[in-house]
Parts: sequence; C-alpha cells; structure tokens
Amino acid sequence: MSRSDSIAAYDQAIEAIQHFLAAPVEGVPAELLDAFRQLAAKGMLPPGLFLEAVEQAPVAISITDPAARILYVNRLFEQLTGYGREEVTGKNESVLSSHATPVTVYQDLWECIQDRRVWKGALVNHRKDGSEYLAELVIAPVLNPQGGIGYYLGMHRDVTELHQLEQRLKFQKGLTEAALDAAPLVVAMLNADRRVLLDNHAYKALLGDFRGLEPAHLFLDALEREFGFDLGQVCQAGNGFSNIEVRLDPPGGAPPRWFACSGVRVAELDEAAQNYFKQSQLSRCCLLLVANEVTASRNRINEARLNLIRSAMAEQQMAQTLRESISGAIFKLQGPLNVIKAALAMPGLDPCADRCALRKVLQGALETGYEAVENLRAALPSPAREQASSLNINEILHDVLRLSTQSLLASGILVDWRPAPVLPALTGQANALRGLFKSLIDNAIQALNESNRSQREIHLDTRLDGRELVVEVTDNGPGVPARDRLRLFEPFFCGWTRPGGHAGMGLTMAQEVVIEHQGSLEIDPDFAGGCRLFVRLPLQGMGGD
Ligand code: FAD
Repeated sequence: MSRSDSIAAYDQAIEAIQHFLAAPVEGVPAELLDAFRQLAAKGMLPPGLFLEAVEQAPVAISITDPAARILYVNRLFEQLTGYGREEVTGKNESVLSSHATPVTVYQDLWECIQDRRVWKGALVNHRKDGSEYLAELVIAPVLNPQGGIGYYLGMHRDVTELHQLEQRLKFQKGLTEAALDAAPLVVAMLNADRRVLLDNHAYKALLGDFRGLEPAHLFLDALEREFGFDLGQVCQAGNGFSNIEVRLDPPGGAPPRWFACSGVRVAELDEAAQNYFKQSQLSRCCLLLVANEVTASRNRINEARLNLIRSAMAEQQMAQTLRESISGAIFKLQGPLNVIKAALAMPGLDPCADRCALRKVLQGALETGYEAVENLRAALPSPAREQASSLNINEILHDVLRLSTQSLLASGILVDWRPAPVLPALTGQANALRGLFKSLIDNAIQALNESNRSQREIHLDTRLDGRELVVEVTDNGPGVPARDRLRLFEPFFCGWTRPGGHAGMGLTMAQEVVIEHQGSLEIDPDFAGGCRLFVRLPLQGMGGD
C-alpha cells in the first residue's frame, strides 16, 4: 500500500467513525459510543491524534464498505489476525472466516446489519497462519447522511481463553454435579441466609418426599432445636460438625426418617469488582451440609427398643390393673366401714348390755375392716419412679401407634397421623407419657367400637404453640356428653356402654401424668364430630420449676 493509499484509507476511516458517531444506529453498546466520543472529544483531538487513538485501541477494529470489503484495520487487528493491513485492505472480512462457523450464523449476522441493527455474537476465525480463535464480535452499521448504509464498523476480541476457561468450569461443575448426584448422600450448599445454592439428586428426591418443604431448612431447624446449632456461629467460628443424628417427620404420616448430618463452612468468594482487593475479608459464609440417611439402622434399633417398651408397658399395665383393682376394693370397703363407724357413734348404742355386745361386734368388724384396708394399701404396688429425660414427643406417639397397631387394625380404624416435621425436645418421663397417650388411643378405639360408624378415624396431630407442645387426639366416635366432661377424670367413673375390664381409672391416671409434667389435658367442648382431646405439655416439662 502506497503512502497516498494509506492516507486515503485513514481519511475514510475517520469519515466512517465521524458518521458512526453522528448517527449511531440503535443498539450500539453505550460504552463503545462513549469510548469513541472520548477519542473524538468533539473535535478537540486533531484527526491524526484521533486516528492514533483508534489505532491503539485495545480491541481489533475494522471498517468496511457495505459489501464487507475492508477499508481500514487497526494495529490490534493486525496483531490478532496475523494479517498486515496492506494484505487485507480491499478484501472481504470473510478472509477471517473459518468453516467451523455455521452458515446460519452468517445469515443472521447479515440480516441484522442490513436491517441497520447492531449484531453481537461469536465467530470462529482463523488467522493468517491457519490457527483458529474464537472472536467475540460487534458489527455496527454506519449510516451515511442519506440514511443508507455507508460503512460497517467491526470490533472483535479474542475470547478463546475465556471460552476455554468457561468450558473447563462447565466440565468441573458437571463433574462435581455428577459425583454429587451419584453419591447416595443428601448434599446441599446454603448461604448465610439459608438459601440453597447447590443440591444433588438425593436432595431433590427428599424435597419431593417432604412435599416441597425445603429439607435443608428442616435439617437446620432440627439441629438448632435439638442441639442448639447456630448457622451464624458456624460462619463466625468456622467450626463444622459431624455425624449429628436428627429425626424428620414427613408430612402425611409417613414413618419418621433419620439422618446423620455433617457440615463444613465454605467461603463463597465475592465476585464484585470493587472488592477485588478485599477478597479475604469479604468472602461470604456458606455451609456444605451432608446428610446420610440412617433410617434403616435406626429402625432396627427402634424395633429392639420397641420390644423393650412393649414388655415394660405390659408390666406397667399389670401393675396399673392391680392398683386399680386394689383401689377399687379399698373404695368399696370404705362404704360399709363408714356405715359401721356412723352406727358406733349413734347415742342409743350406749350403755345397754345387749347393745354393748353389738357394739363389741361392730367395733371388731370396724377394726378388722380397717386392718383389711391397711393390708390392701400395703399391697398397692407403688408407682414406678421414672427419671425425666429429653424426649421427642413425635417419637413417643409413633411408639404408641406402633404398639396399638393390632387393636387399630382389628377395629378397622384409619389413623391420620400428622406430626409437626420438627419439634423441640421435651423434658419428661418417657414411659409415663407413653402410658398416657396409649390410654387416650385405647379410649378412642373403645369409643369407635361403641359407635355404629362405618368409617372409623383417629386423627393425631402434634404442633408447637409458643413454649408448649400440643398433641391433639380426635376420634369420630359418639363423643362425650357435656354432663360427663368433668366426671370423666374422676376415679372409677366409667361412661362406656360396654365397660369390659375398665375400672374407670385410665383418664384419672392420664391426668396425673400430665399434671406431673406441668401440663393440661382437656376435652374440646366445641367439637361436635366425636371427641377431641388436647394435651398441652410445656417444653421444660418436668425440668421446669
Ligand atoms: P459466504 O458463503 O460468503 O456467506 C455465508 C452466508 O452469509 C451467505 O449464505 C449469506 O446468507 C450471508 N452473506 C454473506 N455475505 C453477504 C452479503 N454481502 N450480503 C448478505 N448476506 C451475506 N466473518 C468472519 O468469519 N469473521 C469476521 O471476523 C468477520 N467480521 C466482519 C466484520 C464486518 C464489519 C462485516 C460487515 C462482516 C464480517 N464478517 C466476518 C462476515 C463476512 O463478511 C462473511 O459474510 C462471512 O465471513 C462468511 O463468508 P463465507 O465466505 O464463509 O461464506
């Protein structure tokens, strides 16, 4: 290219850029316009200096005529493509075309720029030496004063390394996800706001099982309530935790599930440009939560535990029946003894001889009676004192349901068991509470057996109400008449039409247990479809004042 040719090419380039700036087509990136406007500085820069600035621009710039014939290329274009400007001037931009770009991309490009719109996209280019690179390209049409297309302004940069990095990242991500998905563990990454950033197949399956309740939140709630776990603490102190077993109760009454949870703190790097120099201080905390389901082994342990509970409850039941019978006998004996005592206190019985003999007999009967009462009292098995411990009420109720399975099935009763997914621990006596709920379930079964309903149901719900655990036991049996609602809790009251072996002490003892736990047991007076009982147990239970 001769010197005069190159001056002509420069002049054309300046003209093209001036036209471009005078009437930029819609869609030209604002930063590009700004860059060129600063270069042009509204005529403050002499044309030579302005062109020098375009020459030095850190992006490959080319200006073509409307048929894509190159009029001007800058220095970076030469460096990037390997073509000198003399070699490409007058040639079509297709000199850079590689067969790796689908023809549809070119069709789209041309349709766009001929429509006076800016095209942005990626093309596979080849350099003069045949090597290929990925070009990120912006082509802006430059309109002439008549509104026709005078030039095209092309700007491109080599994004091969960026693309390779992206590909590698995608591969790494794919690899990580495949490994996570293949693992039989539930994995989730949470940020400090408890938002799930990443999860795996097992996690998604759990999300389905819990009907859309976020499992990570259930785990955190369970860890927090049962072990005082604090996500903020993990972030600050950086301490993780490992193999903490938590129980989750799926909605719809499915059996409880157990997970051994571990967590490690992971720093999420800040991507904001302004924090480039502050990375270490501003990294945000994330928690990698890994939960291994241990329900099967828990169930085996539970089965063995349930057998122990079964025999303990059978013993407890026997002792209770004995206590009820002896208490009943004492109660029955008290009646005649009171009559004798009253007779002895009558004034006419004294001091006549005949009557003295009668008095002696009565006195003797009274003494023997008292002695019998004392003997019976001594024979009363003392209620077993049980240590209070930290309990999960859902677990207690689940045990009771399992212990009652036979009777429920035999009576054709449908149980609608709706435990709260996560409940805080309660301090109380496990066996006493099992006995309490067993007697409530037994009562519901008896009520349903006495009713003529074809569809027999028991609903069992648990929930947290402030600092109290509430257990709701509802049956759709005949219900309790208003006049009996208080008497039900009196000793030896029996309202069943078929009392069988019931001595009328079940609810009395149930109430004793509730009172010992500082709670309450009441019948819902407004419930009309059967009987609904509320058991309210303060969380501190027997651990409170
Ligand atoms: P061709 O067979 O020539 O074209 C492929 C298809 O593109 C055609 O079937 C047709 O639909 C469409 N097409 C081509 N030319 C025209 C036209 N003049 N009018 C309407 N439709 C047309 N290409 C690159 O590969 N790399 C670049 O870096 C590059 N930069 C460019 C910069 C500018 C400013 C402009 C205006 C174009 C640029 N092009 C670039 C596009 C280039 O001009 C070619 O269109 C493209 O390279 C395809 O050429 P080809 O010979 O491989 O295929």
